Amino acid sequence: MRIGSPREIKVHEYRVGLTPAGVGELVAHGHEVWIETDAGAGIGVSDEAYRKLGAQIATSAEELFSHVELVVKVKEPQPHECALLREGQALFTYLHLAPDPQQAQALLASRCIAIAYETVVDGHGGLPLLAPMSEVAGRMAIQAGAHALEKSQGGIGVLLGGVPGVAPAEVLVIGGGVVGTHAARVAVGMGARVTVLDRSLARLKQVDEMFEGRLVTLYSTRDAIGRCTASADLVIGAVLVPGAAAPRLVTREHLRNMKRGAVIVDVAIDQGGCFETSRPTTHDAPTYVEEGVVHYCVANMPGGVARTSTFALTNATLPFVLALADKGVARALLEDALLREGLNVHTGRITHRAVAESLGLEY
Ligand code: NAD
Repeated sequence: MRIGSPREIKVHEYRVGLTPAGVGELVAHGHEVWIETDAGAGIGVSDEAYRKLGAQIATSAEELFSHVELVVKVKEPQPHECALLREGQALFTYLHLAPDPQQAQALLASRCIAIAYETVVDGHGGLPLLAPMSEVAGRMAIQAGAHALEKSQGGIGVLLGGVPGVAPAEVLVIGGGVVGTHAARVAVGMGARVTVLDRSLARLKQVDEMFEGRLVTLYSTRDAIGRCTASADLVIGAVLVPGAAAPRLVTREHLRNMKRGAVIVDVAIDQGGCFETSRPTTHDAPTYVEEGVVHYCVANMPGGVARTSTFALTNATLPFVLALADKGVARALLEDALLREGLNVHTGRITHRAVAESLGLEY
C-alpha cells in the first residue's frame, strides 16, 4: 500500500504521524511510504532521517495526498487538507468530530474513509490511542506545576521535594486515572507528599497497590476536596467522566481557603476543567492568577513536548497502521472490532453512533 504523512499545518502543532522507525517497519512489510518535506522539522527529525529508513519525500501536501491510499496524521484535517482527500482514500488521525460539524461535512463531502484515534478501543474499555497523551500530560503536569511554584512565576516559592531538614511540598491529585497516576509517579519520584482522590474505590485500590504506601489515597467527596485543597501546594485536576464535561469539583470558595501562591494544573481543561476558575491557556502564556492561586490550564499539554509526544503516539498507532496497510483498510476494519470503533466516516456516511448523535446527523 502507499502510505503517507503530511506536515501538520494546525497552529503550534509540531508532532508528526509517522517516525522514521515507523517508516522502516512499513517499508520492511513491502509498503511505499511518503513523508512531506519538513514534516519532522519541528521535532528535530530531518527529511534525510526519513529517507534513510526508506521514505520518499513529497514536496507538498498536494503531491503527498495525490500519491497515497492511507494518510496518517496527528491533528484533524484542516479545510485545505479536507479538500485534498478523495473518495475511498483512508485517513487515520485524531478527528474529535463531535463538536466540529464543519469538519464532519467536509469529510462527508470528500467520501473518504476516516478512522479517528480517539474512538479506537481496547479490550478493557480503555482508549489506547488517547492513553499515551494522558501519560505525557500527567507527567508534564508535575513539571509545569513545579516550575509555577517558583517565586518568579507567581508561586509560593517551595521546592517540590524539599531538602533535608525542610518539609517537601504537598501535592493533591484529583482523579487517579491515566493522567493522575502518571502525575503521582513523578511527584512521588521528586519527593513530594502526594494524595490521590478518586471516586472509584476499585481505582483507589489499584493506585494503592501500585505505589505501595508511598502516597495516600482518599475517596473523593466535597469534604475531602475542601480539606486537601486547603493544605496543598500543588493541585492536579485529572478527572474524566466519559462523554461528559468535567465536573467542577473545586469551587472559588475552595480556592479562597488555599495558600496564596499555591498552584493548580487543570489537565482536564480540554473537557472544560474541574476548577470553577479554570479557563484554557496556551503554551505561550500558560498561567494566570486568580484568588491568589496560580492557574496552569493548557489545553494541549503534549504539544509542548512534541518530540516525546510523537514517539509516544506513534508507538501506539503503528500496530494499527501496519494492520491497515498489510490487510487493506476494508479487511483490517472487518477483522478488528476494536479498530472498527475508530471508524467515524465512510464514503459519505457517519459510521459512529455517538459521533452521529452529537452532530445531529444520520447514523
Ligand atoms: P481516566 O479515565 O484514565 O481517569 C479519570 C479518573 O477520574 C478516573 O479514575 C475516574 O474514576 C476519576 N473521576 C471521575 N469523577 C471523579 C470525581 N468526582 N472525583 C475524583 N475522581 C473522579 O482519564 P485520563 O486519561 O486520566 O484523563 C483525565 C483528563 O485529562 C481528561 O479530561 C482528558 O481529556 C484530559 N487530558 C488533557 C490533556 C491536556 O493536554 N490538557 C492531555 C491528555 C488528557
